[in-house]
Amino acid sequence: MRSTRQIGSRVALVAAVALALGMGVAPASAHPPRPGHSEKVPVATGYGGAVTTVDADATRVGLDVLRRGGNAVDAAVAAAATLGVTEPFSAGIGGGGFFVYYDAATGQVHTIDGRETAPMTMQSDAFVEDGVPIPFAEAVTSGLSVGVPGTPRTWATALDRWGSLDLRQALRGATEVARRGFVVDQTFVDQTTANAARFAAFRSSADLFLRHGAPPAVGSVFRNRDLAETYDVLAYRGVYAFYTGRLAREIVRTAQRPPVSRRSPLVVRPGLLELSDLASYEAPLRAPTLVSYRGFDVYGMAPPSSGGSTVGEALNILEARPGGPFDATQTLHGYLEASALAFADRNRYVGDPSFVDVPLEQLLSDGFAAERACLIDPAVALVKPVAPGAPDGDYAACEPATVGTEVSDGQSTTHLTTADRWGNVVAYTLTIESLGGNGIVVPGRGFLLNNELTDFNFTETQGGSDPNLPGPGKRPRSSMAPTIVLADGKPYLALGSPGGSTIITTVLQILVNRLDLGMDLPAAVAAPRATQRNTAAVQAEPGFDRTALQALGHVFTDNPEIGAATAIEFLPGGALLAVAEPARRGGGSAAVVHGG
Ligand code: GLU
Repeated sequence: MRSTRQIGSRVALVAAVALALGMGVAPASAHPPRPGHSEKVPVATGYGGAVTTVDADATRVGLDVLRRGGNAVDAAVAAAATLGVTEPFSAGIGGGGFFVYYDAATGQVHTIDGRETAPMTMQSDAFVEDGVPIPFAEAVTSGLSVGVPGTPRTWATALDRWGSLDLRQALRGATEVARRGFVVDQTFVDQTTANAARFAAFRSSADLFLRHGAPPAVGSVFRNRDLAETYDVLAYRGVYAFYTGRLAREIVRTAQRPPVSRRSPLVVRPGLLELSDLASYEAPLRAPTLVSYRGFDVYGMAPPSSGGSTVGEALNILEARPGGPFDATQTLHGYLEASALAFADRNRYVGDPSFVDVPLEQLLSDGFAAERACLIDPAVALVKPVAPGAPDGDYAACEPATVGTEVSDGQSTTHLTTADRWGNVVAYTLTIESLGGNGIVVPGRGFLLNNELTDFNFTETQGGSDPNLPGPGKRPRSSMAPTIVLADGKPYLALGSPGGSTIITTVLQILVNRLDLGMDLPAAVAAPRATQRNTAAVQAEPGFDRTALQALGHVFTDNPEIGAATAIEFLPGGALLAVAEPARRGGGSAAVVHGG
């Protein structure tokens, strides 16, 4: 989300990346963009590989890696590391995420679960004091909400398994951006401003983000030398240096004793993180979720994310819905209803599979989808919230929907999508949870810690069977939904989005727009969004056409902006269509290796 203005270091940066990668400098990339020239385009078509992120620098660094012979995994890690510099409030090594990878050589889809874990001393009542949940805002800005970061381990695992670069090479471009700086844009200023009060409470955060007592100016160059040095530590000593040793001790100390200024009025609770929690962290490979939808195979992220199961269940419900073909109103009615039903089941059944028996196979079964689909009345919207179904393998005729309870959560995060000339594809969503994470920069290290543990439910929400209460070593349920769609075993689409639990509906709506409403991918991404997460009202962007749906009983409230997707479509003949947002979050940046 940087300004499109050129910074003087760009040529040097390109050369440095190339030298670092030992790949030689391609003459074309040695031409810096003209001052004032916009590098940030939301749609690019061409060949040889593609990168699409929310940020021009991240996309450029990822593309440089592809141009120099790196693969989609290398490019994804390089771009993600750059987002840690230029999008520090959405993602970084202090957080976690989910990495979905299509391997062209085998035709397999793999996923890495890089979700944060709770400390081993965290109990189910960790966010309760005197019998009542602590205020959410106090939990956000705390040591208590810090989970063991999964992002460094995710990068190392992805590169070890499928990359062609090592971590040192993959981090080089991002390190240069951190060291030499990037040009601040309005979104960066807005996001700093939104966090200014709590950043001011922590000297380490204020020193980095409020250097002259205020957010940086639009057009100024922002450098993060501490982060460059931290990336150097990872580059030269490996991720063990993050999970053990001095850096690990500093992370633990920051979480246990947040460096809050004595003058701050904020109540900042200490955390439970121990060195042993970091040392034992793993980012396991998990089998992806898979559903078939209108002849496509849709792969997603399994629990502890609810992304794959909820997108998948909703697609199954849409496919099982009797009647059709549906016009645009009925298609969107189905989208809203299927989403509400799938969210009811997500809230009731999905949590960390190491702690909760998630009935994933049944949630994604055609029988369960048919039972849920028959609740959808084409003439009138269901009363929300709807109750969860029973994914027990015993599916009956339709029964009227019953009313459940509402559950909600927050916003931030980033998603990137990459593809290479060999046909490998990555969809990767990463986060530090809230915009600005827990607000606390590890002193001298240049990155914010996550507040991911606020993704747990603080108290029971499901009448005694809540799958998402805190627990020792447990991963909070996520909504991140990096998704890869295959047609006849070959990539057709890859996509994802930030946006808390609206991630699920954003991915679902783009799929419905593309596969059911016949929009092309740029239109499917740009189209106004609505999100129904089993709440009384549908949240919708101002441009979303509500009239016909209101006539069916849907109730709307406004949400100015939902999600910030990136996606790649694989066109016939090997062409790639890379797409980012044209406007949301200041617009994203899509690029291909060979345009045209
Ligand atoms: N922590 C959220 C999740 O994993 C993502 C952060 C957000 O976008 O709000 O679902």
